[in-house]
Amino acid sequence: MSEAYSKEDELAILDMINKWVDNDVRPIAQKYDHADEYPHELVEQMKELGLFGATISQEYGGMGLPASIYAKIVIKVASAWMAPGGVFNSHLIQASAVERCGTAEQKARILPRMVTGELRGGIALTEPNAGSDLQAINTVAVKDGDDYIINGAKTWITNSLNGNSLAVLVKTDTEIQPRHKGTSMFFVETKDSAGNFLPGIEVIKMKKLGYRAIDTCEVVFTNFRVSANNLIGGIEGKGFIQAVGGLELGRINVAARGAGIALGATELAVKYAQERETFGKAICNHQAIQLKLGEMATKVEAARLLIEQAAEKYDAGERCDMEAGMAKYFASEAGVYCANEAMRIFGGYSYSVEYDIERYYRDAMLMCIGEGTNEMQRIIISKQLVEKYKI
Ligand SMILES: Cc1cc2nc3c(=O)[nH]c(=O)nc-3n(C[C@H](O)[C@H](O)[C@H](O)COP(=O)(O)OP(=O)(O)OC[C@H]3O[C@@H](n4cnc5c(N)ncnc54)[C@H](O)[C@@H]3O)c2cc1C
Repeated sequence: MSEAYSKEDELAILDMINKWVDNDVRPIAQKYDHADEYPHELVEQMKELGLFGATISQEYGGMGLPASIYAKIVIKVASAWMAPGGVFNSHLIQASAVERCGTAEQKARILPRMVTGELRGGIALTEPNAGSDLQAINTVAVKDGDDYIINGAKTWITNSLNGNSLAVLVKTDTEIQPRHKGTSMFFVETKDSAGNFLPGIEVIKMKKLGYRAIDTCEVVFTNFRVSANNLIGGIEGKGFIQAVGGLELGRINVAARGAGIALGATELAVKYAQERETFGKAICNHQAIQLKLGEMATKVEAARLLIEQAAEKYDAGERCDMEAGMAKYFASEAGVYCANEAMRIFGGYSYSVEYDIERYYRDAMLMCIGEGTNEMQRIIISKQLVEKYKI
């Protein structure tokens, strides 16, 4: 539940984030990205900044930020380095599943520990054979006394190696139709107090084109035991609805990361275009480069406005799946477009690992895929349109 924040509060929070990003995030991005090494120091700073509780209600110790302020934070972080945003974004989507759908006991037990970052994690929906079509998952949970036993494999799960909890989508009934009625979601603590994975969980880190330094892994459950108390909401059959119910906020998040990449790439390009000279003048004075910069800057602002519109509706408690889908689609494509155009502006130096721009280029495409691919977004938008303008 978001709380009321004054304009002064908002400016103070954004000022704190701007300083953190410029002083602590931007300077280390290249080093950790190239080494594909987890930035533990940033995670400690995120705890101090309260980011692990950013959108969790104040009732549970969080900041209860509205989506409109949260999106601005995410844009700023992604404008310097997209990857670390994943550490708190996926965690907050997991927390949102508990806060929206959990029982009172689950919320009281889990959310205060998520706020501090003592529990950190993400969401485990995707499987090797089920991404866009989530109802096709094969991971099963079978009731056994006061526990459930989980078997199956998840893939592409962010925060699963360095975090210690996951919201896991499973099948509790493989026969029932429609298929979504057979799905359930569990809150799973994956590690013991010493930080070792519990028996029945194996996590294998995946190598990625971009979004490096942050762990994305295969997670295999073999006869893994979880208490029935951790079935989110306490009732079977609600998993799919619980998972997609968080997608509006999830899409606003991904849109903000796309807009951040677009902004950061444009900022780098504008600077470089003033430094680099060809044919006796800075390249920003060549019309071909001016056309690129004009287009890039316009897409950044359009992405911001679409995100603002979706976030305002979300904060007002209105349905916004179409607006969030439009923001996600447009802003993520803007990220790819601006990163591509910035590469051209950097010329041959875009291929040098000494410049940051190649990282934006490698990171950008993920935003078109995650949280519902952009093909799926346009299908959702189209279906809503037909519903809205039915003849
Ligand atoms: C780096 C990274 C991190 C990730 N982190 C997580 C995570 O933390 N948790 C998690 O659960 N998942 C995560 N994912 C998985 C991500 O959500 C999926 O990759 C995504 O949902 C797409 O699923 P898929 O890869 O199976 O593609 P598919 O569903 O196989 O789609 C393949 C292609 O077909 C298109 N397509 C599919 N169905 C249709 C249709 N009906 N109509 C038209 N086109 C269609 C898609 O748009 C796409 O172009 C991550 C992925 C990556 C790469």
